[in-house]
Amino acid sequence: MQNTVVIESRRDFLATSGLAMLGLAAGGQGSQQTPPLSPPIIDIHQHVGYTGRPDAVLLAHQRAMGITRTILLPAGRPVTTATTHQGTANGLQAQALGNEACADFARRHPGAYVFGANEVPDAQGARQEIERYLKRGAVLIGEQKFGIECDAPEMQRLYQLAEAHDVPVLMHWQFKMYNYGFERFHKMLEKYPKVSFIGHAQTWWANIDKQHADQSVLYPKGPVTRGGLTDRYLSDYGNMYGDLSAGSGQNALTRDEDFTRDFLTRHQDKLLYGSDCNDHDGGGPKCIGAQTIAVIRRLAQTPAIERKLLFDNASKLFRL
Ligand SMILES: [Zn+2]
Ligand SMILES: [Zn+2]
Repeated sequence: MQNTVVIESRRDFLATSGLAMLGLAAGGQGSQQTPPLSPPIIDIHQHVGYTGRPDAVLLAHQRAMGITRTILLPAGRPVTTATTHQGTANGLQAQALGNEACADFARRHPGAYVFGANEVPDAQGARQEIERYLKRGAVLIGEQKFGIECDAPEMQRLYQLAEAHDVPVLMHWQFKMYNYGFERFHKMLEKYPKVSFIGHAQTWWANIDKQHADQSVLYPKGPVTRGGLTDRYLSDYGNMYGDLSAGSGQNALTRDEDFTRDFLTRHQDKLLYGSDCNDHDGGGPKCIGAQTIAVIRRLAQTPAIERKLLFDNASKLFRL
């Protein structure tokens, strides 16, 4: 149609094309409605093959949530060792697929999907495997979800690799299960000040509360007293970030809304939206990711804070 229009002058052309772009040109096909612009959202935490979810369903799920860019977190290779609790942690205990599947998915969906690099930290050749995918463009190391001390030599080799490649490390903290020694982690934050660490999962979120004493309680409820270990790590260390994803993140954000408003304000430059949900819907009661977006929109005290949590912080940290 454009080819049949005779442009009289540059000025007419600009006026015509400007109106057409706004969907306001009078008559004919130009009158179609332009959908309202929705703000961009980066989801820093999803998985390929998550509890068997097909690729097409993952794509539809992310579209339904309104995600503009997704970071896919691979599992390590399947091994039967103490680090994987004799295989329990294979597939991140969720049938999540590994490096090749995530890198390939991102290659097939350029722009919308990027990927991490991961490996069982004490598996033979772990460093080389992770490095191979960092060289292919992986934007972080993780999700690290293995039964190992957080300051073990094998973990420190990953932190050194992260420093060399200038990428963050994402860690799943779960008491007596994944990444041991949360109370000592400040030593790693101090030893590797150039590495950005992203905290995720139950033990990370339970410890926003200064009163949290029984570490075997993974989803504590009720009012929160500020000054818990997680709160302090975020306040005291410029290289500590928080991943808002999963049931643990959602529980932490909803158990004491007055605390949450203040928490989101104080750590507005350190918190990152992620979904980590395995439902097929991308909305409704089963979709934690969609619910967490709604909670952020409800409890963020300003539009600028909301945008930082949903987009700006991740955009900056991962250079996306
Ligand atoms: Zn995950
Ligand atoms: Zn979901």
